[in-house]
Amino acid sequence: MKRIVVLGGGESGSGAAVLAKLNGFDVFLSDMSPIKDKYKALLSQYDIPFEEGHEHTESLILNADEVIKSPGIPLTAPLIVKLYRQGTPVISEIEFAGRYTDAKMICITGSNGKTTTTMMTYHLLKEAGLNVGLAGNVGKSLALQVALDRHDYYVIELSSFQLDNMYEFRANVSVIMNITPDHLDRYGHEMQNYIDAKLRILQNQTRDDHFIFWNEDPVVTKEIAKRKPLEVQLVPFTGRTVHDMGHPLTPGAYIKGNKMIVDLPDQLIDIDLQDLPLPGPHNLYNTMAATISAGLSGIRKEAIRKALRSFHGVEHRLEKIGQVAGVTYINDSKATNVNSCWYALMSMNTPTVLILGGKDKGNDYTEIEELVRTRCTALVYMGLHNEKLHGFFDRMGKPVADARSMEEALRKCRDFAHPGDTVLLSPCCASFDLFQSYEDRGDQMKAIVRQWMSEEKNA
Ligand code: ADP
Repeated sequence: MKRIVVLGGGESGSGAAVLAKLNGFDVFLSDMSPIKDKYKALLSQYDIPFEEGHEHTESLILNADEVIKSPGIPLTAPLIVKLYRQGTPVISEIEFAGRYTDAKMICITGSNGKTTTTMMTYHLLKEAGLNVGLAGNVGKSLALQVALDRHDYYVIELSSFQLDNMYEFRANVSVIMNITPDHLDRYGHEMQNYIDAKLRILQNQTRDDHFIFWNEDPVVTKEIAKRKPLEVQLVPFTGRTVHDMGHPLTPGAYIKGNKMIVDLPDQLIDIDLQDLPLPGPHNLYNTMAATISAGLSGIRKEAIRKALRSFHGVEHRLEKIGQVAGVTYINDSKATNVNSCWYALMSMNTPTVLILGGKDKGNDYTEIEELVRTRCTALVYMGLHNEKLHGFFDRMGKPVADARSMEEALRKCRDFAHPGDTVLLSPCCASFDLFQSYEDRGDQMKAIVRQWMSEEKNA
């Protein structure tokens, strides 16, 4: 019996272990951190042995025929290096699950916009009545769904870390929203390594498949030119108008007058810009990518229009919490890199007090310099190490303050803000120095602001 070892006992690892077990493998799972109770219960239900909360036991792992690695474990972890050295294949959960299904795969990656686009695409397919599963970084693991709850379509959010260990997996529809510097600490501070990981989404695509991408992304378009001729059918989208371009994108998505046009071989979908579900230029792109994916899945434009009306966005992404003393509070905690903060600032149309900071992943703040200068009235640096932020932004001469907790940050913002202003949490950084996760960071903000709102109401 072949032995599969799963490293990491979270959503993807526990799902992969169940799928492997049901397919007759000898399975062992190892996690250096404690495993959540719900995943332990799942492993026990399927009689899968596991270890947790201490160093990996190498003697139980190095004898594997194949290893399924959680995307959270870096390729440079000593155990992974050892496995590679001895020639043991190391794959991702998505790669493994892909072997056991012939469902249609819509796979979405990019530096920003993955979750929003994935959730919107899933919503469009589901509302249209397709039998669709949501997987990858969001929803249930692909492996568990393939094992226990099969679907005809899967919409999968893929991070570069998942793509790192994908080899044979084939996406029927691949989407790259954009590529800007992110996670460079995991890619040897080499942008090209990160780009190559993202582009793996195209590997194995055939002429029957589609590749959706942002036509203005300099990195993606350069990579396409480098890789020509590509077999896959290209479907670009652009924020430009047909008037500016002088020609429509066929197939593709663009703006014509006050409409978003999605021009596909078998249908032309037009949506009024005022009917788009979410604000900001970035969400136009997200909606274009989702609409193209839905159109390619055979959904007609009436059904797409109807489903777009009932999509209300995703938590922690430009999420409006409410107003206190005439100041609007927006939670964009998921903006964990500089580019997403750029789009958040682009979506602001009132003077903004910006909360930023946290665990810096090698950020270059030049990208938001001009927007901060013109749209922000004050800055609150919320992190354990704010020196880099002081070094970059203080010279603009705006009021700045340091904070070591959400409560402190919000109190300082309240002091800086005037009625009509916006307080925006769009931190450019990961959350782990002061919070458990970006969700925890956003939840704390919402709890405090909601508390203030109720105090104001009762005053
Ligand atoms: P991801 O899953 O790639 O992190 P999300 O959909 O969760 O992306 O959005 C994260 C943040 O990135 C949002 O809060 C928003 O500020 C920004 N964002 C969303 N879509 C885009 C896009 N298409 N291009 C650039 N930034 C975006």
